[in-house]
Amino acid sequence: MKGVSTVQGNSPVNALELHGVSKEYPGSPPVVALRSVSVTVGAGEFTAVVGPSGSGKSTLLAIAGTLERPSTGTVRVAGLALQAMPDSGLAGVRAGRIGFVFQQFFLVPGASALDNVANGLLYAGVPAAQRAAAAAQALAAVGLSHRASHRPGELSGGERQRVALARALVGRPAIILADEPTGSLDSATGADILALLAQVNRRGTTVLVVTHNLEIAQAADRTIRLRDGQVEYDSAHGGTP
Ligand code: ADP
Repeated sequence: MKGVSTVQGNSPVNALELHGVSKEYPGSPPVVALRSVSVTVGAGEFTAVVGPSGSGKSTLLAIAGTLERPSTGTVRVAGLALQAMPDSGLAGVRAGRIGFVFQQFFLVPGASALDNVANGLLYAGVPAAQRAAAAAQALAAVGLSHRASHRPGELSGGERQRVALARALVGRPAIILADEPTGSLDSATGADILALLAQVNRRGTTVLVVTHNLEIAQAADRTIRLRDGQVEYDSAHGGTP
């Protein structure tokens, strides 16, 4: 969905801005995972990041998600400049502005679906009763109200990923960052999750997905392809796909 912006003053706030971002992991020799990557994701966009294994996709997602700091360059999430923030500030941005979805779901096995979703608000300082109400609403949004009391072990893979998506959505983030969200699912179930991501996007949430899945890439508004840590192609800028 294009053209939806959070307005601050008179200027629209981008969901994500990376400027000249490089990332080098120490070692002998060091590994350069990203080389001067500049990407702006507008509020409301649905963007797919593709590229061969080792091209830097997960590193880009980790930096966008404040899980890693870049070696050089600057990052803004929802207009907030991250480079000057202490780690506690980054944790606050993560809790309040970003929703994560991973291939492996990362649900707490002993907790119900509802509690897993409510956990998405643990670090946002929301009182317990409100957490439960918001979690119920988020589960309803992914069509899983009838499984609220089930634990992950009692759910199918697709249902687990729906719970993870509800957990990502419960804090009303500025952006959902998803790393291979359909990678553990069969193709029909993956298609359901893709439809849900598209629906979440249509309702106004910015979505950035790292994927090998061509269907996701085709469903997205925009495709960014990385190679050797650089942006090789960005459909927003034209060029040869
Ligand atoms: P992709 O997600 O496209 O497969 P990654 O971002 O995972 O690519 O990795 C990019 C490069 O950085 C690879 O060469 C990988 O081995 C390296 N890399 C990723 N994470 C680390 C790390 N924590 N320490 C050292 N090297 C890493």
